[in-house]
Amino acid sequence: MSPLGGRHTPPELSNSDSGSVLIMTLLPIRKYGDPILREKAQPVAVVTDELRQLAVDMGETMYAANGIGLAANQIGRLERILVLDVVQTDDGPGKPRKRQRTNERQLEVYLNPEIVDSGIEDDSYSEGCLSIPGLEGDVFRPLRITLRWMDLEGANHQADFDGMRARVLQHEIDHLDGILFIDRLPEARRASLAGALNRMKKETLDLMAAP
Ligand SMILES: [Zn+2]
Repeated sequence: MSPLGGRHTPPELSNSDSGSVLIMTLLPIRKYGDPILREKAQPVAVVTDELRQLAVDMGETMYAANGIGLAANQIGRLERILVLDVVQTDDGPGKPRKRQRTNERQLEVYLNPEIVDSGIEDDSYSEGCLSIPGLEGDVFRPLRITLRWMDLEGANHQADFDGMRARVLQHEIDHLDGILFIDRLPEARRASLAGALNRMKKETLDLMAAP
């Protein structure tokens, strides 16, 4: 998820705080029109080193793109894994926004995330998506959720979330189910984006077909 239709910036490699270069790969972000965004990701059975590396790479890819959440489908994988970082978002009542005041990072990784309960109170927020750059729209979602998930050690957890974290989790879990935020927009808003979406889809398919 990108905050308020966040801008896509070219990926760059960065150094770790200790000065040593981290071994990581920036992964190409799949764009609207790529069929993998419509597929359902499958549960992770065992946490492997390869999966831990994938989580690191997804985090770096998300940061490089100025995102606050990223799901496996968006980098071409179909395991149920998502990453997010909401440390730089204002999480008070009303519209949460990205602050971008510090370089602080707080990467969170969720495997097999499952919403087991949702609050009855909804809120709307203007969402953007790293796979649908430049477009945004108000999406209604429950303010609070109860989530069950597995961590990178293979341990299971359950907790209640609200605010921006709940918003991003729901957006990213949708990705793992092949659902995009545009699917949740009111009919009129979706219609107003149809031209731009069709152009993006054609561009993506043309790029995929290129030799
Ligand atoms: Zn997204």
